[in-house]
Amino acid sequence: MNATSPRRQSTARSPYAVELGYRSPTEYGALSSDGVTIYSVRHVAGAWVCMCKGYSSRQTCCHTLAAALPRCFHCDRTEDVHLYRNPYEAAPIVLCGACAGETAR
Ligand SMILES: [Zn+2]
Ligand SMILES: [Zn+2]
Repeated sequence: MNATSPRRQSTARSPYAVELGYRSPTEYGALSSDGVTIYSVRHVAGAWVCMCKGYSSRQTCCHTLAAALPRCFHCDRTEDVHLYRNPYEAAPIVLCGACAGETAR
C-alpha cells in the first residue's frame, strides 16, 4: 500500500488564518483548510485538543494554536489585540484596537 504516499506537505497555516466558530467557552469549531471540514477544538485539562490528523501526530496544529491565541475580551477578535494593564486592576486584559478605543475614554 504505497500508491500515493502523501509527501510531507507544508500544511502549517498561520493560526491567524484559521476560522474559529464559537461553541462554548471550552469548545471551538475550526474550519479546515479544505474549507469544508470542521474540527472540534476542545479545552481539556488546561490544553487545547483538536480532532485533526496534524494534532494526533504532532500534538499541535494551527487549530489549537488559533484557539489559544489571545482574543479580545469583548468581541473575540484575534487580530489587532493587545494586552492592557489597568493600574487599578491586578490582571491585564486583552482587548482589540477597536474595543480598547471605546474603553479608553
Ligand atoms: Zn487541528
Ligand atoms: Zn474587541
